[in-house]
Amino acid sequence: MLTERQIEFIRTIPKGENHIHIEGSIPARVALRLGKRNGVSLPFSSEEGMKAFVKKNVVDLNSFMKCDRLINSVCITEEDYFDVVYALAEDAKKQNIIYQELHLDYPLNEERGIAMDVVMKGYDQARKAALKDFGVEIVFIAGIDRTLPPTQCAAFIKNLEHYRDVVDGIGMDCEEKGYPCILHKESYEIADSLGLFKTAHAGEDDGSQNIWDAIDELGCQRIDHGVRAIEDPVLVKELVDRKILLAMCTRSNANACFLFPSLKEHSIRPLSEAGVICSISSDDPPYVGDLLWEYEGVIDEIGFDEDQMIKLARNSLEYSIRGQHHLPTFDAWVDDWKKRWN
Ligand SMILES: [Zn+2]
Repeated sequence: MLTERQIEFIRTIPKGENHIHIEGSIPARVALRLGKRNGVSLPFSSEEGMKAFVKKNVVDLNSFMKCDRLINSVCITEEDYFDVVYALAEDAKKQNIIYQELHLDYPLNEERGIAMDVVMKGYDQARKAALKDFGVEIVFIAGIDRTLPPTQCAAFIKNLEHYRDVVDGIGMDCEEKGYPCILHKESYEIADSLGLFKTAHAGEDDGSQNIWDAIDELGCQRIDHGVRAIEDPVLVKELVDRKILLAMCTRSNANACFLFPSLKEHSIRPLSEAGVICSISSDDPPYVGDLLWEYEGVIDEIGFDEDQMIKLARNSLEYSIRGQHHLPTFDAWVDDWKKRWN
């Protein structure tokens, strides 16, 4: 049960978010509107219906990806892609998120024959409108689907040379087991030559070796999730020494992908206590809840105190791709907050 102070803290602290997937985050209101606009039928007709559908059908990472593809199929035109990111920024503003790094998983659109230019132009226009209308700074990370052929992924990353003013980073997601990140070394070499920031989902549903490969072989400056780093003490020390951020999503790990029996047992606590730099994000809000809900879980169920939460929030800006200029605003908010309550 949260105190009045905790409720206000969660609502008002300026937040960054380092790990949220556009295609997995289409709000129900937008999915329904775009479905209607484009004549794409969905197996639900209300926000509640979408929640129930997701709850019933998502039982693991694989079923999650199927659901993700189904809902994303409502996006066809540039305007649709604009609407999705604009809606995400609108929701970010309500949560006092000032800086957000969005993974754009173009392969989910490519497989439906949508041209990259359509997607990128829609997202880019929305990024600009988000800053102007909501004061939310958005940075894009291009995500490759690790289950696809490496040559196809490399072609996608190569194409980013035409969108360097839109995209700032490269990431990798989808099922880890059977698809070690090392398969996509070429994509990361191309990303490196384009000057992109490098991150990868690793140590989520597979072990710590994937994290080692991501940082040593692919040159990743960040790891998304990385929850299984806790199984490897040498890796934990390495992450601390190299100041590598783990962009974690505790509810997604525990409640959507069932990597832990309960949120309480999530590895964010022992990893943070060992000195690993962590931040928290929502991953895919329609499936697991928004960032406020993520904050609430880390406080109420995992038991982080206020100073630990301030550290997580600060990390989301300090170790972001380019959100460090928000730190003075963040620190001023913390000073005011402490004066007010202490
Ligand atoms: Zn993710």
